[in-house]
Amino acid sequence: MLRQAPHLVEPLSFVLPHEPHLRPAWMLRVGLFLYDHLGRRETLPGSFGVDLSKTPWGAGLKPKFGKGFVYSDARVDDARLVVCNVVDAGLRDADIRVRTELVSARRERAAAGPSWRATLRGASGATAEVTARVLVNAAGPWVKQVQDAINDAPSKEGIRRIKGSHIVVPRVHDGAHAYILQNADKRIVFVIPYQERYTLIGTTDIPVDAYENPAISDDEVDYLLELANTYLAQPLARCGRRVDLQRRSSALRRRLVRSVGDHARLRVQARYRRRSRRCGIVDLRRQDHDLSKARRARAPRASRRSFHP
Ligand SMILES: Cc1cc2nc3c(=O)[nH]c(=O)nc-3n(C[C@H](O)[C@H](O)[C@H](O)COP(=O)(O)OP(=O)(O)OC[C@H]3O[C@@H](n4cnc5c(N)ncnc54)[C@H](O)[C@@H]3O)c2cc1C
Repeated sequence: MLRQAPHLVEPLSFVLPHEPHLRPAWMLRVGLFLYDHLGRRETLPGSFGVDLSKTPWGAGLKPKFGKGFVYSDARVDDARLVVCNVVDAGLRDADIRVRTELVSARRERAAAGPSWRATLRGASGATAEVTARVLVNAAGPWVKQVQDAINDAPSKEGIRRIKGSHIVVPRVHDGAHAYILQNADKRIVFVIPYQERYTLIGTTDIPVDAYENPAISDDEVDYLLELANTYLAQPLARCGRRVDLQRRSSALRRRLVRSVGDHARLRVQARYRRRSRRCGIVDLRRQDHDLSKARRARAPRASRRSFHP
């Protein structure tokens, strides 16, 4: 993607300060070795160790942080990437309908082979029927509602919706790199340069039932500030004083679950994928940081052949 859309994707280095009481250095090295070698690395440098106290890699951090690790990732202007993908699909004769909901879909047998007949509802409330050879379920947190709207493929699995919130504060360090901060609860939080003057800190990870209008809570703001302040030389004000907070935002992601354990979740995901493939549904699920890969691999091709909401 760095080569394909350099105007939308840019490299971003992440600095991971070593906290010996949270994870030993060897474990971080092994993790980064796997990170470097599991995917095919073509343009970005591999990870390396740094001395945070003596180099700009530690800018903005408390002086007590000595050892750190740097790894390469990228960031993308995801809104524009979506628009570019849609424009690209349009150039390849896709029928694009924005603000249009998939209401239901059923499998049909025809001489040319099985296909989908889908009912769509536009912004005016008017419905229309379209046929498609492949159906792509890319409904994000609403993936189960869409799955349930499709007959022949009833979904027995549950889905857990996770609220993830960010805060935006005045820039906390001068470098172009981001930080990935470990917390005692085993979670990590990113501290990412944002536009010219700001830093984006997030996310939280809160299971929610009501998800149509996610909003960040004061507890989440406190959680993020507290973790950031464990690392930052210049502490950020807590939300009670409302000094440092420029913006807060909250959004949703989803995980398929049957039970809470990770192994059970992976088994459920694998079975769900197998069943979806059998039914001619392509499920565009992405784990964090897989977004760009999945979009490049699937979206333009699939959108040529299938209905695209
Ligand atoms: C706070 C937060 C931070 C994240 N950070 C990262 C990150 O750093 N890197 C990363 O890769 N990922 C990150 N993610 C994960 C992120 O959610 C996904 O990468 C990405 O947004 C998922 O895109 P998507 O297209 O699958 O789903 P969404 O962006 O949720 O899009 C789903 C779409 O489906 C539409 N839809 C729903 N129902 C219907 C229907 N019946 N008919 C038609 N359309 C329908 C919705 O309107 C929506 O537009 C983050 C998520 C959160 C919440």
